[in-house]
Amino acid sequence: MSTTYDVINPANESIAATIEHFDLGATDNAIAKAAKAFESWRTISPGDRGKLLRRFADVVAAHKEELALLEITNSGHARGNALWEVDNVVNTLTYYSAAPERLFGRQIPVPGGIDVTFKEPLGVVGIIVPWNFPMPIAVWGFAAALAAGNTVVLKPAEYTPLTAIRLGELALEAGIPEGVFNVLPGKGSIVGNRFVTHPLVRKIVFTGSTSVGKSIMAGCADQVKRVTLELGGKSSNIIFADSDLDKAAASAPGAVFDNAGQDCCARSRILVQKSVFDSFMEKFEVGVKKFRVEDPNLATCDMGPLISKKQFDAVQTFLDEPIAFTGSAPSGSGYWMPPTVLMPKNAQARSWREEVFGPVVSVLTFEDEAEAIAMANDSEYGLSGSIWTRDIGRALRVSRGVETGNLSVNSNSSVRFWTPFGGFKQSGLGRELGPDALDSFTEVKNVFISND
Ligand code: NAP
Ligand code: MG
Repeated sequence: MSTTYDVINPANESIAATIEHFDLGATDNAIAKAAKAFESWRTISPGDRGKLLRRFADVVAAHKEELALLEITNSGHARGNALWEVDNVVNTLTYYSAAPERLFGRQIPVPGGIDVTFKEPLGVVGIIVPWNFPMPIAVWGFAAALAAGNTVVLKPAEYTPLTAIRLGELALEAGIPEGVFNVLPGKGSIVGNRFVTHPLVRKIVFTGSTSVGKSIMAGCADQVKRVTLELGGKSSNIIFADSDLDKAAASAPGAVFDNAGQDCCARSRILVQKSVFDSFMEKFEVGVKKFRVEDPNLATCDMGPLISKKQFDAVQTFLDEPIAFTGSAPSGSGYWMPPTVLMPKNAQARSWREEVFGPVVSVLTFEDEAEAIAMANDSEYGLSGSIWTRDIGRALRVSRGVETGNLSVNSNSSVRFWTPFGGFKQSGLGRELGPDALDSFTEVKNVFISND
């Protein structure tokens, strides 16, 4: 029996759409369909598979405005961000459309014959997506999975299914065969969990909370199911006295408040070298006050609302620490809150240790390079981070010292579709994007052919 679900616009709490949820039976049917489609999808010639992915990218590009509007309405994403996110779908599909023709194996010297390796697709890949970046996180999984010859079942988050559903329709319009890319809106406990237990789903790509990620990893052990995990983060923005302080301070608000801080890469810890603390905070306050929290439909919007009442309430629990200053936010309906800067008492404070996933940042000081590295590494997470310095030796030393998957020097951007993305420690397992992701969607097969 299927149930319906009301999707809420977080900017005004109105019902944006009502959608059908997949139940267990419908989930099993979709998985069976994807397993059937795998038989033919894997045999499509590499060039033709590439062409289909490029056509998919073109159709998405032709619907850029429509998809962006859906995301603004469903997720409250700032218009500029939503447009970037559609471009990210187009770019990631285009990037991986070149992969089928370049999925090289090796020829390895052996006695008595030749030895070659093949990168074989896995079969049906189950992708479980959170609500914070519905389009990018979905495409990072499905573009590489499809390019490598797998078929996909994708479960969007309950809060944010609208763009994923539309991408499923656009895939068909682009000529991707029926059953190859399947979008299954529904509950994590039903649809997502079925991906984990169903024997025909050969791999799980999960992005979301560390706690659910751990349970998925444990569930996958039963069938030795392959798993890629992108989990939480508590990333550091490390600002040295020798940096371009104006630039570091001007870009620090975007580094944590972008997407209302609901970003696993959010630099929600700022570490400032003691000698420039006052001067940094002065400049930072100017940047925070200028950060525009407003109707996400406006091109000038920097930050929209939080995704839900539940997330809003969870973020408020961090506000019992000393507040240095805040920005502003609209009042009235919607899950709005201002960008907020905390000065925790010390590195044991909850805001310093836990992922907030909201527009809250904590600032502490450090004396020297060694202390900065130690403070940054004092976390169970290790996803991203930034280092601001003009000293290239220091930039290298600190980059090698910080235990995290993605670092930027004199920049706060972590994600590029050309380069590998993923976490150290409890921030995840495996890598998405770049050339590395294809290894996560293929199995190496070794074949020896005798001379005889
Ligand atoms: P979540 O519970 O981990 O959900 C992520 C996805 O997993 C959703 O599609 C969810 O479905 C699904 N799911 C939930 N339980 C499942 C299960 N037992 N088996 C299979 N799939 C399951 O994350 P959340 O509740 O959206 O957010 C909670 C916290 O996670 C946030 O506050 C933040 O700290 C962190 N988070 C991190 C990221 C990241 O990018 N690393 C992204 C989002 C959230 P439903 O939609 O039905 O719940
Ligand atoms: Mg949850």
